[in-house]
Amino acid sequence: MKYSVCMFAAAVAASAMFVGCFGKKDEASKNKEGVLSGAKEAVSAVADKASDAVAAAADKTAEVAEAAKDKAAEAVEAVKEGADAAAEAVAGAVAGAAAAVAPKEGTIRMITEATFPPYEFRQGKEVVGIDVEICKAIAKALGKELAIEDVEFDSVLPSLIAGKAELAAAGITVTEDRKMQVDFSVPYVRTGIVFVYAKDKPFEKGEDAKGKKVGVQNGTTSADYVREKLGQEPEMFDSPASAFAALKAGKVDVVIADIDPAKAVIKGQDGYDISDLLTVEEYAVAIKKGQPELLATVNKVINGLKDSGELDKITDDMTAKANAMAAAEEAKPAEAPKAE
Ligand code: GLN
Repeated sequence: MKYSVCMFAAAVAASAMFVGCFGKKDEASKNKEGVLSGAKEAVSAVADKASDAVAAAADKTAEVAEAAKDKAAEAVEAVKEGADAAAEAVAGAVAGAAAAVAPKEGTIRMITEATFPPYEFRQGKEVVGIDVEICKAIAKALGKELAIEDVEFDSVLPSLIAGKAELAAAGITVTEDRKMQVDFSVPYVRTGIVFVYAKDKPFEKGEDAKGKKVGVQNGTTSADYVREKLGQEPEMFDSPASAFAALKAGKVDVVIADIDPAKAVIKGQDGYDISDLLTVEEYAVAIKKGQPELLATVNKVINGLKDSGELDKITDDMTAKANAMAAAEEAKPAEAPKAE
């Protein structure tokens, strides 16, 4: 009797466990379905966006739509492989959608970040600078008009990779890390980064900034320098000028920036100076990987500008233009104090 009660109890327990397990499994598969259908919805929303974009790109509609569809289908496949893959697939489909936005017929797009005189800066609404002139020459060689996209510096290469432009030129230093993501042209200038400091608190060597608050522009080689050479976190700003404003306001002890924009920000600012170069860097134009023909054209144009002396002329012109703008900025009367 006791034995059979025991057996009965064991059987109940076992079936409870079974139901428990089964219940859990059911729950898990419900969750998975939830994730899958959520991800599928996201992917199809993205695919919809891609086709909207395709409609806008009048000429290449059929071809581009096919590519976007394939990307979305690939994404759906990946979603089936699990929740983690879903995030990646959606990101892939987003990139696919972005890539589907083809340039207007007859134009080539340059992506840049226009707070970097004399390489790229705004004159009124227009983006001008050395990089703009280089890209105009590339566009001309291709028989196209240049269109300019202005984004934050840390978005320049991701946007290029996502297909939002064909050329990236933003005083971009060639680095080993970046070489893994994009193809670089031949370099067009040798330059580097410097300290920008208040004359009464000079900074000369890297070590001088150890443990100090160092302002840099987001995503730049100056930020890398602070992390790698000084072993600390920099204070981030969205332009060399805003980092310099923080220095003037006493919010950082020193700024690190590329030498030419650094010279531009201290123009007419008596109490400030720059150090010697802390690094040697080279700028180049970046393009999406795997386009040997475009790369050859870009290189030919840059080598031509260098050999003919045209690049020196462009550099002098744009430096003068940026300085004239800085001088005009300085001559502006200070805002009148408001009456109480
Ligand atoms: N040359 C630096 C870099 O590539 C800064 C470029 C910039 O801020 N536009 O990181």
